Amino acid sequence: MSKQQPANEVGVSIGRSADPGFGGLPIDFSAAASADTSVTATDTTPTSPFGGLSISFAPDAPTTTPAAGGPVSISDRPGRTESKLVIVGSGPAGLTAAIYAARANLEPIVIAGSAPGGQLMLTSDVENYPGFPDGIQGPDLMAAFRSQAERFGTHIVDVDVDRVDLSARPFRLWARGTEYRAQSVIVATGASAMWLGLDSETRLRGRGVSACATCDGFFFKDREIAVVGGGDTAFEEATYLTRFATKVHMLHRRDEFRASRIMVERARAHPKIEIHTNTAIEEVLGDAKVSALALRDTETGKTRTMPIEGLFIAIGHQPNTAAFRDWLEVDAKGYLVVKDETNSRIEGVFIAGDVHDHRYRQAVTAAGDGCRAAMDAERWLEAQGITEANTLSAW
Ligand code: NAP
Repeated sequence: MSKQQPANEVGVSIGRSADPGFGGLPIDFSAAASADTSVTATDTTPTSPFGGLSISFAPDAPTTTPAAGGPVSISDRPGRTESKLVIVGSGPAGLTAAIYAARANLEPIVIAGSAPGGQLMLTSDVENYPGFPDGIQGPDLMAAFRSQAERFGTHIVDVDVDRVDLSARPFRLWARGTEYRAQSVIVATGASAMWLGLDSETRLRGRGVSACATCDGFFFKDREIAVVGGGDTAFEEATYLTRFATKVHMLHRRDEFRASRIMVERARAHPKIEIHTNTAIEEVLGDAKVSALALRDTETGKTRTMPIEGLFIAIGHQPNTAAFRDWLEVDAKGYLVVKDETNSRIEGVFIAGDVHDHRYRQAVTAAGDGCRAAMDAERWLEAQGITEANTLSAW
């Protein structure tokens, strides 16, 4: 979900009702909202935020029954903790890596995280993922990825990796008290948007509050909206959002910007953008959807209300590197550093997706990256003599 490529739009619209919620379209992340999803399993969460989608989130959930057709290497050994390949992360990068690795007979284990599925789980209509001319719900897309990975024998556990030891092979990873061992590892832990941390922001997320203009901007056609942040992302998003919105208010807590001068000047000159410096958001107001912001002047302390229908949070992303930071190289922004295609500095440890890519951040680019990492891992395992030369026509 790039902030870089406006053509790549991922939008939001779950269900339509008389009470529009998100940019004029109703967003309802309640369980009933997409009860007609074709993906079913067991949802252990009573109030699923994933539009009623039911994926089995239980740790060590058994793998699904294989579908007919295609090369099959189904592992029915739920609970296994050793593999030629452990993939950490279950967004488009991790699950694509799993599909490729499973089809190459590597019987991968995916340590999916306690909130599996990645950022698309927080999006509704995905309109730019190829192959879905009418769009697809983000959670449904990820459920399909997951089911496809499981079909070929991927074992998925929905737990967070707490720590790893990459000093020797087999590599060791600990997640909720269980030790996993792997001859190779793909790190595909993604990145998370940073949020202001207000309760009202959380409550109205998907109901007018978004962290992705390219995903959700389309739904704010002819609306007045705000963008918070003073970096390049905020300026880029504000400029992008002028395609849809009647007016874009930029709110920044200081009077100096991190953004490049040219971006700031372009925004200043834009008739649809109004920049408000020294402005902090105290609360996002609205019941079913965003209706206004309670603002505070950071110099005078004076408060005011600004009526708007959408709020875009553009205060940065954080790559999810906590467990790996001591082992793998990170760049100045905290993203993992990739060498020679998908390799890390440790042989046998590969990197895919947003955890290293702060440029494209698209589901489709992450998926492509996951494919590359799996191919690199498979070839590396072959070169080590850990696996035989390609046993299946995996690609
Ligand atoms: P950034 O440069 O770190 O800027 C984040 C902004 O959000 C800052 O202005 C910061 O305010 C504000 N902020 C942070 N936490 C906040 C909070 N809790 N409440 C209110 N405001 C808050 O992040 P970014 O804009 O995402 O950019 C990240 C990197 O990507 C940068 O290196 C940027 O140059 C690059 N990038 C480049 C392009 C491009 O070249 N086209 C586009 C996008 C991003 P303060 O300034 O007060 O700290």
